[in-house]
Amino acid sequence: MDHFLYKNGILHAEDVALPEIAAAVGTPFYVYSSATLTRHFQVFEDALAGLDHLICYAMKSNSNQAVIAHMASLGAGMDVVSGGEYHRARAAGVPGDRIVFSGVGKTAEEMALALEGGIRQFNVESEPELQRLSQVAERMGKTAPITIRVNPDVDARTHEKIATGRKEDKFGIPIARAREVYRLAASLPGLQVIGIDVHIGSQLTDLEPFEIAYKKVAELTHALRADGHEISRLDLGGGLGIPYERSNTAPPLPLEYGEVIKRTVGDLGCEIEIEPGRLISGNAGLLVASTIYVKHGEDRDFLILDAAMNDLIRPAMYGAWHDMVPVVEPAPGAEQTPYDIVGPVCESGDTFAKQRNLPAMAEGDLIAFRSAGAYGAVMSSEYNSRPLIPEVMVNGDQFAVIRARPSFDDMINRDTIPTWV
Ligand SMILES: *Cc1c(COP(=O)(O)O)cnc(C)c1O
Repeated sequence: MDHFLYKNGILHAEDVALPEIAAAVGTPFYVYSSATLTRHFQVFEDALAGLDHLICYAMKSNSNQAVIAHMASLGAGMDVVSGGEYHRARAAGVPGDRIVFSGVGKTAEEMALALEGGIRQFNVESEPELQRLSQVAERMGKTAPITIRVNPDVDARTHEKIATGRKEDKFGIPIARAREVYRLAASLPGLQVIGIDVHIGSQLTDLEPFEIAYKKVAELTHALRADGHEISRLDLGGGLGIPYERSNTAPPLPLEYGEVIKRTVGDLGCEIEIEPGRLISGNAGLLVASTIYVKHGEDRDFLILDAAMNDLIRPAMYGAWHDMVPVVEPAPGAEQTPYDIVGPVCESGDTFAKQRNLPAMAEGDLIAFRSAGAYGAVMSSEYNSRPLIPEVMVNGDQFAVIRARPSFDDMINRDTIPTWV
């Protein structure tokens, strides 16, 4: 459940009517509900109740400072994947000992940054990375707490571009070689092995791949302990999917996911970390756009919006579905018309949906894309020199602009013309 509902025939974010925000910041814009973020965090807290655990929000899904500060205020840790995200987390007040560092290509500079500022653990993904981290830590006179990300060769049955746990994917070390790589880790100076990490993909709508992967992690825990390693923490990654299409069957609930965790690794005496991103931020956000034109084509009608693929790339990149609803509630039983819903960018790929049924739309009408809080604003660009769109956060009957729309001058002045031109 989220907090985007019609009230008196107008779509609201919590207690704020969307047209009120549109009038204040212009369209298009992203809007996030803090009550929904809180609710999603709480659902995971409930799912892991009884286990020693930390929920590390995968901030790559939505890394606005206001969002991560809100998550931190609830007690969340952060999963970061770059030096930039590490800086953001620290700037939002997240202490180093609540930050885990993931990613296949951490640089020496990023390692040093985290070792200097404080880190809960590095999730190491390869032997060369182990060597690099060991060198950096030793040079700084520090000890780097680590897990090693294992690749369990499990098909997450999700979109090709976001499956990460198959042997052909670039992530982690093959689980079959784990004992050898842990032996190497234990022999290197500056590293302290504390656990195991796994993350098999994103937008999983089935619990079975998690169950298979976590069973393999449990077996590996026993094997590594027998080899003399301290395994006291298991990072089980993120990836639980959300319902993008409300008319479809809903993906499993966090509570059921929590049961899988308890059943597979709950009796190992380990501290459990999870790294949910999409499930926390996805349904906590909308993209709101305005209709520029309704164009009658030869065999179809186009709804041309002021939002485009540069603002929300998921449909173009993953063929993703977003439910879209008019901001003014249609009358019950209102007739539906199929539209191709597109943006103004000069590519046919700038299509949000084809032949999508909506009540008749007119110029100026507002439309909301649901489930746009994750991998929306963070993946946006200024392609076609369209300035980044604003982000707004709602809390009850208040709202605040949490990232303002840059002016055209802001955008242009980021470039420099060399003197010889
Ligand atoms: C992307 C990612 C996540 C978050 O995935 P979601 O599907 O958004 O929950 C967690 N951990 C790692 C290592 C990731 O790369």
